[in-house]
Amino acid sequence: MHSIDPDSIQFNRGHFIGGRAVAGRIEMDVRRPSDNRVYGGLPVADQDLVDMAVQNAWTAFKTSGWARQAPRDRARVLRRWADLIEADAGLAALEAVGSTRPIANAVGWDVPFTAEGIRFFAEFADKVGGDVAATRADTLGMTVAEPYGVIGAIAPWNFPLVMASWKIGPALAAGNAVVLKPSELTPYSAVRLAELAIEAGMPPGIFNVIQGDGRVTGDALVRHPRVAKVTFTGSTRTGSAIMAACAQTGTKPVTLELGGKSPQLVFADAPDLDKVARMVAGAIAGNAGQVCVAGSRLIVQREVAERFVAGVSQAFAAMRAGHTWRADTTLSPIITPADAQRIDGMVQRTVQAGAQLAAGGKLAAVEGEGAYYEPTILTGVTEGMEAVRDEIFGPVLTVQVFDDEDEALALGDHPSYGLAAGVHTSDIGRALRCAQRLEAGTVWINRYGRSDDFVLPTGGFKRSGMGKDLGRQAYEANLRFKTVLVDFMR
Ligand code: NAD
Repeated sequence: MHSIDPDSIQFNRGHFIGGRAVAGRIEMDVRRPSDNRVYGGLPVADQDLVDMAVQNAWTAFKTSGWARQAPRDRARVLRRWADLIEADAGLAALEAVGSTRPIANAVGWDVPFTAEGIRFFAEFADKVGGDVAATRADTLGMTVAEPYGVIGAIAPWNFPLVMASWKIGPALAAGNAVVLKPSELTPYSAVRLAELAIEAGMPPGIFNVIQGDGRVTGDALVRHPRVAKVTFTGSTRTGSAIMAACAQTGTKPVTLELGGKSPQLVFADAPDLDKVARMVAGAIAGNAGQVCVAGSRLIVQREVAERFVAGVSQAFAAMRAGHTWRADTTLSPIITPADAQRIDGMVQRTVQAGAQLAAGGKLAAVEGEGAYYEPTILTGVTEGMEAVRDEIFGPVLTVQVFDDEDEALALGDHPSYGLAAGVHTSDIGRALRCAQRLEAGTVWINRYGRSDDFVLPTGGFKRSGMGKDLGRQAYEANLRFKTVLVDFMR
């Protein structure tokens, strides 16, 4: 893997509606997180432009045959699209320059994972049907799975391509038309996806991208009367606002993938504690902790706590903060300097409340105006402290110590979040007891994070969300089921 020249990338800066690029008046700067330099501008779609995008999608849904064609043909287009995404020379560079994803990750994970996600959902198109039941001797009943129509998709900035693919993949495979609003902080790679969809043979208007912020563009999309369903990934606060807007504008169904404060339970009998320490370090410092499932709360058994924290600290020390276009970068920038200040504020206030710093605790120095934060360990924390209670979305690990399994489980559950959890132990009974008792949408045992397991759904409990991305569940959530009863008595 080689470093890339960030100034060499070419990309479309506008909206993409009805199969073509649509320019708009530039209203916002878009900056590269690595050095905080402006590298593009953003048009903000207003109510009229959102309306144009949704009407285009609606017309394409009704007239293009996307929903009514043989599902195998739809699957073929989606597979071709995935191939084009994987083969696109510029997509990984665009993602790396415009987001917090280092080029090595963008090439090795984000782009192939985006393509693979679309392929995964393409396979459902001709394999999931409804039920048939003879409800009486002279009656046959069936359920027919139908697409909703136009789905409004709203994505965050932390994994721009992958998060978008988890929304649009199942929606399109199920036969819907989609209007996607990427984050205003990472707007451009989604437009490239839309260009490639046209190249793959998707009818114009079936997949549209509108640019803008949440307050104007996102809100107008969610509230549009022709948007039949909303699928959202982002913060819990925005998720609540979107749910309220969906309730007010037609009781629209909504899928919400929201924030987390996920625990990592490490028992003294964990297999290979050194390896687990590296895993725990990666689970909080990967993408500089800007990950919904970041394992942000280490809950470790007393007899191994000191050694384990030293292992995590050692793994942190080996990480190299740097520009995302450098091949040797392993620690990402923080999305904006203001976010780095916010992270630092949470750390400093927790220290003032009595916690100790075992690593990090300050901004990391990297050339340019970007902001980086040293992977940080806070020990001596209690449950009420800010860094333990609130999602930080930065590379900050809090450490709590336990003596027995019940205590570990009591510390593990968060009062409001329930996205993911890790359990590290070689006792299978204990592992399964923890998995059963923890209130989390995903429990990883002796591993942490997702690789190629698309077949399993992801999504949080409690304030971490509603509904699922990935898995059969995500595909079915993009369909509505109609019951048809046939009376054949003469
Ligand atoms: P955010 O909520 O600030 O923004 C997400 C998206 O919503 C953006 O596109 C934004 O423009 C839009 N938006 C904002 N206000 C809106 C409104 N009123 N109406 C409609 N759209 C609106 O989140 P973020 O900072 O981009 O992402 C970070 C958050 O996302 C974290 O909390 C993280 O945990 C969460 N996240 C969750 C998952 C998951 O799968 N559970 C995955 C990734 C990120």
